[in-house]
Amino acid sequence: MILDETAAQDERNRRYAALAAHEGLLPVKVPPFYRRKVEAEVQALGGHFGPLARVVLPDEARIGLRVSGEVPDFVADRTNMPTGGAGSGEDALIRKYRDRLLFAPTSVCAGHCLYCFRQDLLGDLHGREDHAFSGRTEALRARLMVEPEVREVILSGGDPLTLPANALAAILATIEGFPHLHPARLHTRAPVFQPKSLSPAKIEALARHGARVVLHVVHPYELCPEVEDLIGRLRRAGLRLYNQFPLLRGVNDHPAVLARLLERLDDLHVRNLSIFVPEPITGSATYRLAYDRILALWRALSWSNPSWITATRLALDTPFGKVRPEDEIARENGHILFRREGRTIRYPDFPQEHDRPGQIETLLWRE
Ligand code: SF4
Repeated sequence: MILDETAAQDERNRRYAALAAHEGLLPVKVPPFYRRKVEAEVQALGGHFGPLARVVLPDEARIGLRVSGEVPDFVADRTNMPTGGAGSGEDALIRKYRDRLLFAPTSVCAGHCLYCFRQDLLGDLHGREDHAFSGRTEALRARLMVEPEVREVILSGGDPLTLPANALAAILATIEGFPHLHPARLHTRAPVFQPKSLSPAKIEALARHGARVVLHVVHPYELCPEVEDLIGRLRRAGLRLYNQFPLLRGVNDHPAVLARLLERLDDLHVRNLSIFVPEPITGSATYRLAYDRILALWRALSWSNPSWITATRLALDTPFGKVRPEDEIARENGHILFRREGRTIRYPDFPQEHDRPGQIETLLWRE
């Protein structure tokens, strides 16, 4: 039974690899640490439909289901690059907010999340480098010199914690060279994919520069003793730790899963900042939920949990920044319309007929 299922998954992986090569998507990449968790889950459930398998392995819908309204780059990363993405180094910079600059020093990630909202950009860059961080850091320095209103540099990616310790230290020192900036903020999934890759030298570099680290833990089973031990070391080094994550169908789309994840993060002194509405990017249908179900999940979480769980925010990232449920102004032709700073964002809702909720006995199969 498991052998048949493994062969079927191998076949799906092959078809996804062909699709990824054709459409410029990130290929499957599962580091050994995470793979062992997925294998334990597959053994327990008898198939590759559990929450962690769905994060990193394609199902039929990831390969073949497309719904209307999908776009390659919903948040318009490319058009928010200062030079439109052309040129050396500046394609690592994205400016959506007047006071914040997003910097992608690498396009490499420890593992590939098949729900990744930045597939379009990272898929293009995949396999093309990645030793270009010095040119990118110079582009960052040059940009900061001419844009004094920037108050924070956010390192995202790719995953900045896949960089060698000396490269990371050099970037953090560059940012620290601008005294009006807040300490750098880094977004990462390296701790859940490969906790051992965070060497003492990397932790020391982060701590020396007072970095804020934003984890992207999407499911409570990603928090195991090894990951918790690493989080403890980061905390003892004096780092400020946060988390944010997207709502993902079949991964965390149940109030009990969300509450469990937020409880564990709180136990670990990690503050969750936001839960994100999944973006309608190409090939995202297997992960998306109908917007009304998102609101219902949100209400269920809010009504039945204490405030240290419900203090987190629900947000949708857009080309102009985040919008929240209270920014909704209308619904028309299958779209939700949000308004922010005088601009309207049209979010194509996910069709209800495709929205099959995750089952709690699968989502929390260990309980
Ligand atoms: S680690 Fe982040 S940037 Fe990399 S594939 Fe996952 S979601 Fe995308």
